[in-house]
Amino acid sequence: MHKIMAVNAGSSSLKFQLFEMPSEDVLAKGLIERIGMKDAVISIKTHTGKKHEEVSHIADHDQAVKMILEFLISLEVVKNLKEIYGTGHRIVHGGEQFTGATIVTPKVLAKIEQLAEFAPLHNKANATGIRAFQEAIPTAKTVAVFDTAFHQTMPPASFLYSIPYRYYQEHKIRKYGFHGTSHKYVSREAAKFMNRDLKDLRIISCHLGNGASLCAIKDGKSIDTTMGFTPLEGLTMGTRTGNIDPAVVPYIMEKENMSAAEVIDVFNKKSGLLGISELSSDLRDVTSAAQEGNYQSGLALSIFIKRVRETIGAYAVEMGGVDAIIFTAGVGENSVIVREQVIDGLQFMDIKVDKNLNESNENRGSTRSISSFNSKVEILVVPTDEEVEIARDVLSLSNQG
Ligand code: AMP
Repeated sequence: MHKIMAVNAGSSSLKFQLFEMPSEDVLAKGLIERIGMKDAVISIKTHTGKKHEEVSHIADHDQAVKMILEFLISLEVVKNLKEIYGTGHRIVHGGEQFTGATIVTPKVLAKIEQLAEFAPLHNKANATGIRAFQEAIPTAKTVAVFDTAFHQTMPPASFLYSIPYRYYQEHKIRKYGFHGTSHKYVSREAAKFMNRDLKDLRIISCHLGNGASLCAIKDGKSIDTTMGFTPLEGLTMGTRTGNIDPAVVPYIMEKENMSAAEVIDVFNKKSGLLGISELSSDLRDVTSAAQEGNYQSGLALSIFIKRVRETIGAYAVEMGGVDAIIFTAGVGENSVIVREQVIDGLQFMDIKVDKNLNESNENRGSTRSISSFNSKVEILVVPTDEEVEIARDVLSLSNQG
């Protein structure tokens, strides 16, 4: 039995879950927000029902980590920090160097910081989290788990853009893909649920949350995904455009007197469901407004669904068929309407959802099938758990090393 911590450090936040492995029981989880401010908020819950919530000044990530660890002791989750066998850190960008989870050495940490070129806010914050934990628990093994790594199996025909080849050679401009930890986790859970070998399955994983991406998985490996050089490409998302003709950028710059960076900011933060509906980035709000007859919300929902559906079609073609479609993340796990309407357009491929199973609340929180008895393709709802996947990676790498 080992206690393993999964860590997700943002620029001003830090989320963690402490697991008992290999049983995967959650011993404690918590979140610190507004790090660096006077009114930082810390909240921790333990498996025994103990809680701690506090608002106080937290200067930096080092202090945040120290506070978390002190609370784990005072809430009697651990007696001694040496009990924490390893920490696994979510890293947004692993470039082409990292094709899987990796034990963090000084060289690896330097590389992660170097890759901040591709994901400036994220990788720097992720590296800060690593340093803070290494300093606080020097005995623990440290593992980096990359959002991009799972997609490193994509063939060049999937990851190259149709731009001059030397841009790829000289600047590494290509599709990287994100949400890899989630796509990997749900595809493995789906194979277990279906009692099939991953190697025999063609899976389309639909991670539909505030950020959204689809992934085509063949032989357990990502062969295509919708996010690209950055997480802006692909589907319509809560606030992100997804695919758009790049010629729109200079046109908006001229018409709205904006810089390129300002336009990209609009594409990241004010577009997608929010941009079209002019109401909300939250799919629940957009759905209920659409049901009340709000035209723009109805449009936002239709565009969101259309892009998911057409990409499922494209990936089915790419893989020469599909055995399972997975819905996961906030929208995928919860929105009956999105699941129903996405699949509604796929009946010609003998992909059929069972209305009752789709609407049922039974087995919520665990993997469940919603496909009709005469559907040729298994349709599954799989709750994603990136933290467990991180803890699994830490355990398997630490055992090897
Ligand atoms: P995530 O980024 O995975 O946390 O997902 C956030 C998205 O999930 C938001 O757009 C929410 O509106 C959506 N969501 C969460 N719960 C529900 C629900 N019960 N029904 C529909 N959408 C939901």
